Amino acid sequence: MYDSIVIGAGVAGSVIARELAERGNRRVLVLEKRGHIAGNCYDCPDEHGVLIHLYGPHIFHTSIRRVREYFSRFTQWYDFGHKVVANVHGRLIPVPFNLNTLHMVYEKEKADRLERLLTEAFGEGSRVPILKLREYPDREIQEIADYVYENIFLHYTMKQWGQTPEEIDPAVTGRVPVVISRDDRYFQDPWQSVPQEGFTEMFRHMLDHEKIEVRLNTDARDQIEIRDGMVYVEGSPFCGDVVYTGPLDELFGCRFGRLPYRSLDFAFEHYDAQDYQGHSVVNYTVSEDYTRITEFKHLTGQKIDGTTIVKEYPKAYEGGEGEIPYYAISNPANEALYKRYRELTAPLEKFHLLGRLAEYKYYNIDAMAERALALADKLLGETPGATGGRA
Ligand code: FAD
Ligand code: UDP
Repeated sequence: MYDSIVIGAGVAGSVIARELAERGNRRVLVLEKRGHIAGNCYDCPDEHGVLIHLYGPHIFHTSIRRVREYFSRFTQWYDFGHKVVANVHGRLIPVPFNLNTLHMVYEKEKADRLERLLTEAFGEGSRVPILKLREYPDREIQEIADYVYENIFLHYTMKQWGQTPEEIDPAVTGRVPVVISRDDRYFQDPWQSVPQEGFTEMFRHMLDHEKIEVRLNTDARDQIEIRDGMVYVEGSPFCGDVVYTGPLDELFGCRFGRLPYRSLDFAFEHYDAQDYQGHSVVNYTVSEDYTRITEFKHLTGQKIDGTTIVKEYPKAYEGGEGEIPYYAISNPANEALYKRYRELTAPLEKFHLLGRLAEYKYYNIDAMAERALALADKLLGETPGATGGRA
């Protein structure tokens, strides 16, 4: 009946399914455990008609031309430069910490001097991870580093990860470096947008292909079994490609123990007001139990009366009913555990792990799509299209 099976209808699953169907002319079955497509990018109108992102705010930002052009086949864009502010003891300052922030925090003469020092030390336009800035052997630069560490990173990271910035993978805090320029945007990518009709619509168009069948509310673990170096689908051996984008430990009944993840609780609130906070995202970096508040209408550009916000409360993932593993916790012990699970799939030539869960890595949407396109290139025996390359 099917040539290929894709498990999960998020970014990874939707892109690979479309590619195998369209470029590979294959019949593709997509199994999705939730009642909707789009994975964690899922958005929908709430009961007041406000377009919300059910699993936290998602902004598509990229410098990968191939991915931008690929997604543009399925949507028009609402483009903007995404900005975030931090609420530090009631005062709102731009994040990532940049030269504008510096001038808000210090009086003019000192800020001018510190700006010169930072520019001489790192070069104009550079992006310096906070942990690197803290190591810099200059007393005044260390003073800035201490300010940024204490007011932007320490408490937020403790909330998000339950650990200090030193205890987690440095790549995580490196995602939000100190920026030695006046650029206030959260990301530096040339393309920063949300799909005009929302992410769900974009993925609906992607999956809308005569050779793709999507089955929602279907947990692949009820249909697929791996034993004796073979993949069985509903009891019969399956010889086509299977792409798995779910959590790898769950596929094997967590037999070596659970892979650790961080999870989140989302608390949505609606107000009969035009505006709640005047910004799409406010990070609470020194106070509150939640990490940030997103006000959706500022993110999506939707013109509507009333406004909906969401607060994010981080927590440990325990694998309970309905809990979602959002963030892999990258450290040597967890990587080693992941590897043990991955080895169980090594004999399976046509079984492919793809996605932030299956690969146990933090991927942004664009990096995820790039990997899915690369896997399609490999499975279809083709080299990347002429549109490859970065802007
Ligand atoms: P997912 O979206 O998780 O999709 C996996 C799918 O597989 C899910 O739908 C799941 O239900 C399904 N599945 C799992 N197990 C099974 C099973 N056994 N059977 C059937 N189906 C199964 N990235 C950005 O680029 N910009 C952002 O602003 C951004 N914000 C984020 C905010 C938050 C709070 C989080 C958590 C992530 C954010 N990301 C952002 C990252 C983005 O969500 C990921 O890059 C993207 O979702 C990865 O896609 P995926 O397909 O790997 O995973
Ligand atoms: N971070 C922080 N304060 C901030 C923003 C980010 O401490 O105001 C740290 C925190 O550890 C976070 C990491 O930087 O997990 C990466 O932030 P990013 O916004 O990229 O995380 P995402 O929202 O994508 O998970």
